[in-house]
Amino acid sequence: MSSAPERRDFAATKQMKAVMFKYFTELSQASENGKKTAWCTSVGPAELLRSMGFEVYFPENHGAMLGATRMAPDLIPLANARGFSPDICSYLTSDIGSYLKGETPLQKMGLSGVPKADVLVFNTNQCRDVKDWFQWYAREWNVPCIGIHSPRAVGALDDSLFEYVAKQIESLIEPLEAVAGTKFDIDKLREIIALSKQCTELWKQVLEAAVAVPSPITFFDGTIQMGPAVVLRGHQDAIDFYEALVAELNQRVADGVGAVEGEKHRVYWEGMPIWGKLRDLSTQFLDLQACVVASTYCNSWIFDALDPVDPFGSMARAYSSIFICRSDDEKENYIQRMAEKYKIDGVIYHDAKTCPNNSNCRYEMPQRMREKLGKPYLVINGDLNDLRLYSEEQARTNIEAFAEQLVEA
Ligand code: SF4
Repeated sequence: MSSAPERRDFAATKQMKAVMFKYFTELSQASENGKKTAWCTSVGPAELLRSMGFEVYFPENHGAMLGATRMAPDLIPLANARGFSPDICSYLTSDIGSYLKGETPLQKMGLSGVPKADVLVFNTNQCRDVKDWFQWYAREWNVPCIGIHSPRAVGALDDSLFEYVAKQIESLIEPLEAVAGTKFDIDKLREIIALSKQCTELWKQVLEAAVAVPSPITFFDGTIQMGPAVVLRGHQDAIDFYEALVAELNQRVADGVGAVEGEKHRVYWEGMPIWGKLRDLSTQFLDLQACVVASTYCNSWIFDALDPVDPFGSMARAYSSIFICRSDDEKENYIQRMAEKYKIDGVIYHDAKTCPNNSNCRYEMPQRMREKLGKPYLVINGDLNDLRLYSEEQARTNIEAFAEQLVEA
């Protein structure tokens, strides 16, 4: 009798955990070390903040932790009771619920809790929710909330758009100097952008390792390994970790070792992860010998445009060309390129109930993509954090039926 296939972990995971622990420890010690803390949205101006000496905290990362630890469903109702609709971003509602209850997964790491912001800096390139989210804390703590308003549903990119965004990034300097108590230094910013660029190139190599057949990494691995690319871009620790991970992936490719033993099918994941169900989904795909080799989500932290020679212009280009703020035509072109590059057999679209911004199956895109790619698709109804919106049984059955279609295709 053959035993169930097992998930292959990476030796580098230990280093990733140490890097993340150090990051959170430094954040929690910011004020005793005389440092200011800036909250930043996931594709906000982290490089600028870091260059000005801020410790940078990303509440969406905390939202993902609340989802992965399955704390979110108990916390969301607290935010609902304060007036935040159950239909809006469940990162927002679980994070505010966590604040209201005074409970966070960071306490399980031995830390006192979420670091209080001295300033909150958003970019609406992904959604409006992040601004509403940050403004709530700004009112709560009486601290400034500033940000960038980015165009969304953008078709062709052009210089006027980049100039518009670059000017907004530059205009953040004065209010940030007032909070930081230090002067902006363009050379420091160039240095941080160079580090950020190195991190992004390494993260790209991690994800592109999945081009190999069999793939040495799955989407589910990627959601775990991406922590440093999200919270530590512009920091040497992230670079050191990804160098180790890339070396390990290259070794797996050289040895023909796949993340999914006996890989038979290759799938693309479009949309948000279902954080509280990553392990279950990963196991089901493993059992089906299907590897989710690529995703829009993990690739959203590749910022090719960053360039220390043109700090503001290149940050504007990087932040304004991410998938989530593009038109459906551009998104479809992107998915098509990814499907070809990663030799995809089918596409899964996650319709995350509380994130319309990152759910691309509501306006007939899966059907159009099936025509373009000639590959089957599946829509999974669920949510990033609110597991009350996800039917495990239904998803499991649908995934099994989808895998059958992959066999037939
Ligand atoms: S993009 Fe979606 S998940 Fe992310 S902050 Fe906005 S609404 Fe929430």
